Amino acid sequence: MSAAMMHGEEHRLREEIVRYGRSLFDRGLTAGSSGNISVRVDDGWLLTPTNACLGHLDPARLAKLDGQGRLIAGDPPSKEAFLHRSMYEARPGAGAIVHLHSTHSAAVSCMGGLDHSDCLPPLTAYFVMKIGRLPLVPYYRPGDPALGEAIRGLAGKHCAVLLANHGPVVSGASLEAAVYATEELEETAKLFLLLRNASVNPLNAAQIEELKSVFKLDL
Ligand SMILES: [Zn+2]
Repeated sequence: MSAAMMHGEEHRLREEIVRYGRSLFDRGLTAGSSGNISVRVDDGWLLTPTNACLGHLDPARLAKLDGQGRLIAGDPPSKEAFLHRSMYEARPGAGAIVHLHSTHSAAVSCMGGLDHSDCLPPLTAYFVMKIGRLPLVPYYRPGDPALGEAIRGLAGKHCAVLLANHGPVVSGASLEAAVYATEELEETAKLFLLLRNASVNPLNAAQIEELKSVFKLDL
């Protein structure tokens, strides 16, 4: 691929981050300056800047980091850059990562009595197909490097994790896939909260096995 083509691809990805950021913000999935989005490029990755509102991003000012997470160009990166870096290191196939403090997922992340290895039930086939088993990462203070280590330990087996008292970190092969999976997680968290006092039939083991076999899922 020529330098000009790489540049064109990076330009397209920058515009895509801005478009999805605005879409998530406009629909109330991220508030204020919370949440961050990253995309892998040939020579590193792009990340939304610190204190940036996802609704009003400037494609030219996105932070560009090298493989070691050092700033190459653009505004200073989100202070949560290490969450993304840990996920990319554990998931070589991940092309993009979305991290939000979206209301329903964050609400679930604060609940007691969750199964830490699988904190949302398989309510729908779409949740099983896009997220699978969702582990809960214990609470760490903002910026604690131990949080990065905890994510690294789980992300090899899971495309998404839920940070306790915080929110989800979701990877995908593309930014579109990561955004759609994040939205599926948020909708499932909403269903889970709506159904808290109801008698619920999640998918059973045979139904999950069928999904794994038909759709070649690695759960
Ligand atoms: Zn966060």
